[in-house]
Amino acid sequence: MKSLSARCLLCGKNYDVEEDHKDFQKLSKQEKAPTFICDYCSNKVRHESDDKRKEKKPM
Ligand SMILES: [Zn+2]
Repeated sequence: MKSLSARCLLCGKNYDVEEDHKDFQKLSKQEKAPTFICDYCSNKVRHESDDKRKEKKPM
């Protein structure tokens, strides 16, 4: 399986992204230093925005 090394924009860590990752095609088109949002950070962001939505909605 093909893989490439990409850096997460949020945590700054380097990850090996494999061919079956949803962003692989997008990343392979970025000529140098591909960047993406890693699964860990995208989960975190999703949770944070969920929390904000809950806060705005009074129960
Ligand atoms: Zn990250």
